[in-house]
Amino acid sequence: MTSPLLESDLALARVLLAGPGPALVLTGAGISAESGVPTFRGAGGLWRRHRPEDLATPEAFARDPRLVWEWYEGRRTALRGCNPNPGHIALARWMLSRPDITLVTQNVDRLHEQAGEQVGADDARTHPVRLHGTIDQNRCTACEYVAEHPGPSDTSSQATLPRCPQCGSLLRPDVVWFGEMLPEAAVTRATETAQCATVCLVVGTAGAVYPAAGFAKIVYRKGGALIVVDPGDTAFDPIATVKLRGEAGRVLPELLRAGGVEVSVSST
Ligand code: NAD
Ligand code: ZN
Repeated sequence: MTSPLLESDLALARVLLAGPGPALVLTGAGISAESGVPTFRGAGGLWRRHRPEDLATPEAFARDPRLVWEWYEGRRTALRGCNPNPGHIALARWMLSRPDITLVTQNVDRLHEQAGEQVGADDARTHPVRLHGTIDQNRCTACEYVAEHPGPSDTSSQATLPRCPQCGSLLRPDVVWFGEMLPEAAVTRATETAQCATVCLVVGTAGAVYPAAGFAKIVYRKGGALIVVDPGDTAFDPIATVKLRGEAGRVLPELLRAGGVEVSVSST
């Protein structure tokens, strides 16, 4: 548990978030940590003897598709029992209170969407721009076929791995692996938002993965404010206008209050 937040930091962050102009929210693995989804680099972020950076790559899949499939099946199974935490919920409520917030996530879980549903709106405003795809879908390694992941797969041997119903090639999770291109439409939307945002709220990302980290830096370079919510050190800390050192599930509800950022301006 991190120490209590400074009231002055919270107050400044609330003023910045309530200011005019579009807001960009950039989330990473950390926002889902309190939902029980491990981050890649934190404690418990290792899977058996393998590092995710050695499995979530096209080379790993070419070398041993069965091992990569097995890893993803494990991650999918773990995700099935996870629910949005108060951080996801506070964010979804805040996004419904304003039309000019764009949420860009590196996460491949669906916890942002589920939070939107839980606050009573399966509303496009609560849907994130997905930079790294979604773990609930598969796509073909050879053709354009994409489909929801149908459920547990037999990963006991390469011969039993799921195959494309259209062309018979191996299916793979519809996520972006290290070293792969990001979906162009998502990058375009994130870039456009970053270029006009007056504030960027960064939650639960160490800032080591590009181009995702670059979107927050665009906002900073254009003169926008940067608010960082993370219990650990991040690459954004040196340029943050406000660092709120704490877990997303504790800080975001406090920061965003129920429904929106309320700022009282005294008229003298
Ligand atoms: P990262 O593992 O590099 O960093 C996670 C960050 O979250 C760290 O800075 C850590 O201090 C912080 N954190 C830990 N607990 C937190 C909490 N309770 N509240 C707020 N912050 C907390 O993750 P990353 O920078 O997002 O990038 C790693 C890549 O891994 C991404 O590309 C992403 O696609 C993928 N990934 C996704 C998921 C998911 O979908 N939930 C999970 C693991 C990894
Ligand atoms: Zn195919």
